[in-house]
Amino acid sequence: MTRPTATTATLATALPASAVTIATDPSTEPFWQAARERRLVAPRCADCGRFRLPPTPFCPHCQSTAVDWTELSGRAVVYTFTVVRGYPGLPDITLVPAVVDLPDAPGARLVTNVVGCDPADVAIGAELTVDFHPVSDGWLLPVFRLAGPPGAARAVREQA
Ligand SMILES: [Zn+2]
Repeated sequence: MTRPTATTATLATALPASAVTIATDPSTEPFWQAARERRLVAPRCADCGRFRLPPTPFCPHCQSTAVDWTELSGRAVVYTFTVVRGYPGLPDITLVPAVVDLPDAPGARLVTNVVGCDPADVAIGAELTVDFHPVSDGWLLPVFRLAGPPGAARAVREQA
């Protein structure tokens, strides 16, 4: 019998599929349908051109209901984050919930998880790339992984 190494046990991950249920409505369903196809999209007002996330029925700037769903590159930058150790029923899990800026969608931010890294390597300003994590009912949840070599984000933090 093998025990997980300390490194494995502390890697940031996402919640197990069964713990996440996606509820859609007409204003959010295109986001989730695209994620199911491993595409990251954001709603852009078809009248004033501003991006908005989370998706809303009306543009908060001009009240238009016209929307263009724009496919993004999947690049993101950490705006802020926290580290959560343990979750009800999952005492050994490590989560890094984060709010990220999307360089291709100025003004839009996404609440997500950074996964697959040592939480000590996550920093404000760190560059990320999207990945998709399976959740309940066949949906895929956009999550993000650190772009670049391990320690790159730490270097960004130490320069700040
Ligand atoms: Zn607008």
